[in-house]
Amino acid sequence: MAIHFFNTLSRRKEEFVPLVPGQVRMYTCGPTVHDFSHIGNFRTFVFEDLLRRYLKYRGYAVTQVMNITDIEDKIIRKARQRGVSVREVTEPYIQAFFEDLGRLNVERAEHYPRATEHVEDMVALIRRLLEKGYAYRSEDGSIYYDISRFPDYGRLAHIRVEELRGGARVRQDEYDKEDVADFALWKAWDPEDGEVYWDQYPDLGKGRPGWHIECSAMSMHYLGEHFDIHTGGVDNIFPHHQNEIAQSEAATGVRFANYWLHAEHLQVEGQKMAKSLGNFFTLRDLVSSNNPSGRAWDPLAIRYVYLGSHYRSKLNFTFSGLRQAESSLDGLKSFVLACREVRLPGPPEPDVAALVGGTRERFVAAMDDDLSTPPALAALFDLVGEVNRRLVSGRLNQASAGLLLDFVEEIDRVLGLRLTEQEQPTPEEMELIARRQEARRHKDWATADRLRAELASRGVILEDTPQGVRWKIDRKQPR
Ligand SMILES: [Zn+2]
Repeated sequence: MAIHFFNTLSRRKEEFVPLVPGQVRMYTCGPTVHDFSHIGNFRTFVFEDLLRRYLKYRGYAVTQVMNITDIEDKIIRKARQRGVSVREVTEPYIQAFFEDLGRLNVERAEHYPRATEHVEDMVALIRRLLEKGYAYRSEDGSIYYDISRFPDYGRLAHIRVEELRGGARVRQDEYDKEDVADFALWKAWDPEDGEVYWDQYPDLGKGRPGWHIECSAMSMHYLGEHFDIHTGGVDNIFPHHQNEIAQSEAATGVRFANYWLHAEHLQVEGQKMAKSLGNFFTLRDLVSSNNPSGRAWDPLAIRYVYLGSHYRSKLNFTFSGLRQAESSLDGLKSFVLACREVRLPGPPEPDVAALVGGTRERFVAAMDDDLSTPPALAALFDLVGEVNRRLVSGRLNQASAGLLLDFVEEIDRVLGLRLTEQEQPTPEEMELIARRQEARRHKDWATADRLRAELASRGVILEDTPQGVRWKIDRKQPR
């Protein structure tokens, strides 16, 4: 079986064939660091993490590049408003971004280039475009890309060329399909830019690069002129990714990226997320109690919400959905704990091995089909349900439980939910748990309840099951 991805370029699923067997080079558009990233941004970043993890699971060596946009219209505006340097605006948000990725258990990419450190590459690319006649200088000294010179312009975004308006120009980095026009590669210095400019390239003039040229220059720097996969959110398709293709392919004469994958939007309670609607959340709002639920959520429950719907469907984020995700995650963690507690001797049972094998096949088939996480998770839950029935009747031995734990660990390399990395109670807490068990044996319910409450206040939640007591550690929210 081969992996298939939906390619935005062709609007259909295509078999994935990398340029170099066994290796994948992919570029993922990163954050613009003028603020904390919101939960819609993180949907895309978690999708890219899933893609990366799955390619690795399937045996590919992955080289991933994610840019950090640290120079851009909004950043400059913020620096001027606050009277500080661009770096003073961006640095705290860059740090925050990496903290947030860590919370969501997103694996690190191989490279996180910052735009301000690659201006040289962008200048070189703009020069190539000028030499080849794809770029021109406007009256104000800015350099624009001439979209009429690139016959394929509009293909990724599915805009017909005859709809293009000749001669229109757009200076800002983000604009709509209706405003399709020549776009700025190099923006001549403007008093609004304050102290932000590069003036060491006399042929370009005092100014700064546009946003789109950044990703063309940095992807080629790290991945070469032709690479495998380029991803982002659907809002990147136009104009950003369309412009990247136009710039790159015009300059090099070769195809830029083979596969374009895009994550759909996230809505909140059925509506577009907007500050004005009060439904705009950063990850920080959800993992602190600064949100309408008043609860500090486990970031991995948020990750579960993302995985719970296919990346190409609109995701409707709701607090009830988040609660469900939390309980699904708890179910998986309890399953791991239960398997760890099994002590029954004997060799691995063949039907358990067959169950694991069948589940792996379903999981891989679903993920090979354009990373279809909902059926992949369903396969895992079917296995959990089946094994739980055996656990209740005490029909699972330790060797089989070991097989199951290995399997959960294996597929969690893809899911990234830290299912087998659970915190254990401290020795002192283990002692309290043992004393409570002792009190229960003597039917001393008052002492048992007091010890249970004491453990809960430390974040150790006990659950009495037919197989004995189980615990869950939740240090952030003692109940
Ligand atoms: Zn980009």
